[in-house]
Amino acid sequence: MTTVITEERQTEAQQYVQSVYELVIQRNPHESEFHQAVKEILDSLTPVFAKHPKYMQHGILERIVEPERVVSFRVPWVDDNGKVQVNRGFRVQFNSAIGPYKGGLRFHPSVNASIIKFLGFEQIFKNSLTGQPIGGGKGGSDFDPKGKSDLEIMRFTQSFMTELYKYLGPDIDVPAGDIGVGAKEIGFMFGQYKRIRGGNEAGVLTGKGLLYGGSLTRTEATGYGCVYFVSEMLASKGQSFQDKTVVISGSGNVSIYAIEKAQQLGAKVIACSDSNGYIHDPQGINLQTVKRLKEVERKRISEYVKEHPHAVYTEGCKGIWSIPCDIALPCATQNEIDEQAAKLLVENGVVAIGEGANMPSTLEAIEVFLNNQVLFGPAKAANAGGVAVSALEMAQNSMRLSWTFEEVDAKLHSIMKNIYQSSVSAAEEYGHPGNLVVGANISGFIKVADAMIAQGVV
Ligand code: NDP
Repeated sequence: MTTVITEERQTEAQQYVQSVYELVIQRNPHESEFHQAVKEILDSLTPVFAKHPKYMQHGILERIVEPERVVSFRVPWVDDNGKVQVNRGFRVQFNSAIGPYKGGLRFHPSVNASIIKFLGFEQIFKNSLTGQPIGGGKGGSDFDPKGKSDLEIMRFTQSFMTELYKYLGPDIDVPAGDIGVGAKEIGFMFGQYKRIRGGNEAGVLTGKGLLYGGSLTRTEATGYGCVYFVSEMLASKGQSFQDKTVVISGSGNVSIYAIEKAQQLGAKVIACSDSNGYIHDPQGINLQTVKRLKEVERKRISEYVKEHPHAVYTEGCKGIWSIPCDIALPCATQNEIDEQAAKLLVENGVVAIGEGANMPSTLEAIEVFLNNQVLFGPAKAANAGGVAVSALEMAQNSMRLSWTFEEVDAKLHSIMKNIYQSSVSAAEEYGHPGNLVVGANISGFIKVADAMIAQGVV
């Protein structure tokens, strides 16, 4: 149901949003990524404040843009040559209104306070969308794991956890992996946390190995979840993955399991990529070959054409979006679809986009998709399957039992359907029918805002 909002209320809401945005810029100078993330969400929330002034009266926005806690710390470690190295560690505990802080750790040279705050801020709304009791947080370090030996990674992660453990706990803050943090790093960090705490608090980290508290389906969750989400968008138009041609960028964790699920649903996936280039296989990608090359042998995707000579390899990443397809799933990295690539996809008849990666489409690209009635699943909603199953891992750890693959997969599927439905309803209710960017932001926000009101000014 669309509600009519007076012009006066609308102006008041706009002024409120603008004043909070200006405060964010003033308080956090030079943090451009954080400003950008705040702006994107604040812009879509204006109709909420116009309709429900109570959120303004309770100062929700002023509070939600200010992290509950930010920790920055020194991480000293000794490399294989005996040289002392110093990195910087971060944890931002953004919002705990609906549950313990939850969000990954990123190890990448580009990590700084702005990046971690932007990711942590987004995480509040993504986590809320999952319907799971998890707050928003994010952390990491400017440490670069590429080219480091296993012993160097162990020494670094142990030093990192020796400081970070003070702020963690299964009911306090539960990190997971992100870029540069996979099963190996999580294993080392869990070992060090356990050693310091002197007890096995399995639920303190997620993405753990299956031998010590990990969850089945966590590996598949983000890719499968993205395809489940796009299936819902297609179903709203009476369509499905059956017999569709699909282009999926990347060939890492998210891409591989998006390819797997799309193929299971009857689609033909004709292209994928890595950071060097892309392969086009008109007969349909052989997933076993991709899995072996990328997950086991750690080779380049270009090797694929040696085994499948009818496929073509092209150097460079952007060209993948020039391949005509019905569905495109960007699952590699940020800003990989720009305005030009979006226009090309539209000209070639794309029907749906599902963002598996974080922020893979530029703002201009999103405009192109929305203006051309392309079904568009934004990252916050479409890739929330990963963190959703992380929350299921926490639940299993608390119960000291493990669900089967089928049980977790069924829960994931139903969570993705719910995220879709709640985004659709919120978009419609607030006057932007079909705009899932706005719908996901509003739906994620309202639950957190209502919990904050219920808990008083804290
Ligand atoms: P991985 O490191 O497993 O895979 C990333 C893939 O993208 C690799 O194949 C990499 O190639 C490729 N790649 C990197 N840069 C480019 C580029 N410019 N063009 C084409 N391909 C590129 O990461 P994940 O699959 O885990 O993550 C992918 C994205 O999904 C990230 O944005 C991440 O933040 C997001 N995400 C991941 C979740 C998860 O559960 N894993 C959850 C939610 C979001 P190469 O092999 O050369 O390195």
